[in-house]
Amino acid sequence: MDLDYSPADDAFRAEIRTWLEANLPQAVRQKILNHKRLSRDDIASWHQLLGQRGWSAPAWPVEYGGPGWNVAQRHIWDEECARVGAPPVLPFGVSMVAPVIMKYGNEAQKRYYLPRILAGTDWWCQGYSEPGSGSDLASLRTRAVREGDHYVVNGQKTWTTLGQHADMMFCLVRTDPAAKKQEGISFLLIDMKTPGITVRPIVMLDEDHEVNEVFFEDVKVPVENLVGEENRGWTYAKYLLGHERTGIARVGASKRELAFLKQLARKQKKNGKPLIEDPLFAARVAAVEIELMALEVTVERVIASEGAGRGPGPEASMLKIKGTEVQQALTELMVDAVGPLAAPFDPAFLEGEHAHALGGDDDAAPLAAYYFNYRKTSIYGGSNEIQKNIISQMILGI
Ligand SMILES: Cc1cc2nc3c(=O)[nH]c(=O)nc-3n(C[C@H](O)[C@H](O)[C@H](O)COP(=O)(O)OP(=O)(O)OC[C@H]3O[C@@H](n4cnc5c(N)ncnc54)[C@H](O)[C@@H]3O)c2cc1C
Repeated sequence: MDLDYSPADDAFRAEIRTWLEANLPQAVRQKILNHKRLSRDDIASWHQLLGQRGWSAPAWPVEYGGPGWNVAQRHIWDEECARVGAPPVLPFGVSMVAPVIMKYGNEAQKRYYLPRILAGTDWWCQGYSEPGSGSDLASLRTRAVREGDHYVVNGQKTWTTLGQHADMMFCLVRTDPAAKKQEGISFLLIDMKTPGITVRPIVMLDEDHEVNEVFFEDVKVPVENLVGEENRGWTYAKYLLGHERTGIARVGASKRELAFLKQLARKQKKNGKPLIEDPLFAARVAAVEIELMALEVTVERVIASEGAGRGPGPEASMLKIKGTEVQQALTELMVDAVGPLAAPFDPAFLEGEHAHALGGDDDAAPLAAYYFNYRKTSIYGGSNEIQKNIISQMILGI
């Protein structure tokens, strides 16, 4: 089934395009288009602005403050945000913990947390992975022991994205070590300012501080911060991971990056001619473009069946693999296109502190860091090998 856009969808696209052009801060947009790093404030202020407009949580139901968009409109929103170069609304609050609170939280939790998530009042992070418990998440060992009105949490999380900025973490903890591993896990909401929490940076390949280790030492978490029932956390964790998967392919962002790659390849020269006219390079660009077009059609098919009431299911794994392969291939081609011009490493330029790069080419200078950073995409969100296992079991029935 294909996604058919109606005249109303076209009008919707025009409305949001106009709004984005008028409201997206130019400085932030330029950082995204130029592959520079975003600050905490760039991301938080954009979320807050969207919250005021009622557009920070496109997939939420109207009763909780969502805009009531259908799947086609949500897809248009994603496309337009990517096209213009808008910062992401981080998934941890809006698309991860919020659906869990809506489905499994109590009334007090819904009343307190959901409006704050919508408005971007709190910065959330995800406390799932631990050393030794990534793909095999159910083996996690961070322990929570109930003592009166509190749980006392001890252990360690790792790879916590942007946890250095976080006000809150949703966290999987082991509450029953004697039970089967999936059955002894609970889902806690933890205030990151609680005594006993230490956040330590992990510096990535591009020398950016994007992920962290988080240590818990006798951290007291009020019992009212338990979501749902004790020892049922695995069910909630799986629900969370299955949510909102079609955006995972990031087709809109890849289309923007493909256009950037072509622009680079028109500017660079090989044997006196624009690189884009080199048959071998042009063929490599075309191969990625074809993959991207096929991916876009696949995403639209999945969205159309979602609109017809069928959830994205295991197809999300195909989108994750193909989407990340295309993203990585684009970064490789960009570095190849500019060659040695990508070599200067200038963190101050990446942070937006210098107007121009040390190496003299502002387009080329961030590309090596971008290339290294994007190695992460085939690991996070469930590694691509794990997605292949899901496809072989759930789709191919092997
Ligand atoms: C940049 C980044 C950000 C992240 N952000 C967060 C976050 O905010 N919160 C959070 O909780 N986690 C986060 N993660 C963690 C991420 O979910 C895990 O890294 C991922 O699930 C893989 O787990 P692991 O690192 O323990 O690797 P492992 O599970 O040890 O895997 C190592 C290798 O073995 C392969 N492998 C493992 N099991 C199998 C199998 N059964 N079959 C075939 N191959 C297998 C994997 O594919 C991988 O190549 C982040 C990771 C990265 C890189």
